[in-house]
Amino acid sequence: MAFSVTILGNSSAKPTPTAHPSAQVVNLNEQYYLVDAGEGVQQQLIRRGINPLRLRAVFISHLHGDHCYGLFPLISTLGLEGKRTPLDIYAPAPMGDILEYHHRYFFDDLPFEVKWHEVKTTEYQIVMENSTLEVWSVPLRHRIPTSGYLFREKQPALNVRKEEIQRLGLSIAQIVALKRGEDITLSSGETLSHEQLTYRPYEARSYAYLSDTNYSARAAERVRGVDLLYHETTYSMAEEQWAKGRGHSTTTQAARVAQLAEAKRLIIGHFSSRYKDHEALAEECRTIFPNTDIAREGETFYIEQLR
Ligand SMILES: [Zn+2]
Ligand SMILES: [Zn+2]
Repeated sequence: MAFSVTILGNSSAKPTPTAHPSAQVVNLNEQYYLVDAGEGVQQQLIRRGINPLRLRAVFISHLHGDHCYGLFPLISTLGLEGKRTPLDIYAPAPMGDILEYHHRYFFDDLPFEVKWHEVKTTEYQIVMENSTLEVWSVPLRHRIPTSGYLFREKQPALNVRKEEIQRLGLSIAQIVALKRGEDITLSSGETLSHEQLTYRPYEARSYAYLSDTNYSARAAERVRGVDLLYHETTYSMAEEQWAKGRGHSTTTQAARVAQLAEAKRLIIGHFSSRYKDHEALAEECRTIFPNTDIAREGETFYIEQLR
C-alpha cells in the first residue's frame, strides 16, 4: 500500500514568479486527500497528474488566503467535470459561511454536495476516520485559529504464520479469530495466544503537517514518532524575533520540533519570498536535525513500510 505526499506548493503569501502557495496531496492506497489549497491548486493538481475528481476530502489549516484561496475555483471546476459524490471539507470556522456565500453566487448549480466539517483549532482529536486512516487535528500557534493535521494509518491486520496453520491444522474460523487479535483453543483443549501465531506485516505509518505556527513543543509531543513531518520554515534562524511577531517559525525552530517529536524525516516549506536559496535554509535545519529536505514543488515523498 502506497503512502506518499506530493508537494503542490511550498511558498508563503507573497506571490513569486515560480512558486505556489501551500498545498499537498496525501495518497494512501490510491485514496487522495488535499491538504491546504493555496491559489492555483487546481492547475498544480493537473500538472502533477492527479485527477481532481479523485480527491476524497480537503483539509484546510486556517483561513489565510495562501492556504485556501484555491479551494473555491477547485470546487467550481469539480462541478464542470461532473463530480457527483459529496466533497468533504475539514476547516476551521467560519469556512461554512464562506462556502455558503460562494454557493449563493457561484455554486448554485453544483451537481454534488459540499460538506463542511468544522475543525476546532484548540482540540487535538480525530476529525476524520475510515477503514485505513485517522486524521487528527493538531492545535498550532498562529495569528488566527490554525490547525495542523496528523495522518495516521491504521494498524494493518495481523497475518497468521503459514507454517503454524499447517502444523496445527487451523480452521478458517480460528484463522479469522487470530487475525482479529483473539486467542484460540485447540481441540486438545490447549489455548494459544495470537502473539505466538501471528505477525504484523508492517508498522502503521504517519505524516504530520504543521502549518503556519510559532514554535510549539506541545505540537511536537502530539506528533511524536511521526515518519514524515512537514514543518513550516518561513524564516532563517537570524529572523527569530520577526518570526515570533508574525506567528511563524525559523529553520532551527522547525528542526527542534522534529528533534523533540523524534520524527524520522523533516521536510520544510512555506518559505518567505525573500529567500532564493532554500538549500541554505535546509542546511540550517540540518545542524540540529540532519534528516531534513526541502519540500520541493512537484516532489513526492514516499513513506516506506517497515516490518
Ligand atoms: Zn501561510
Ligand atoms: Zn497564515
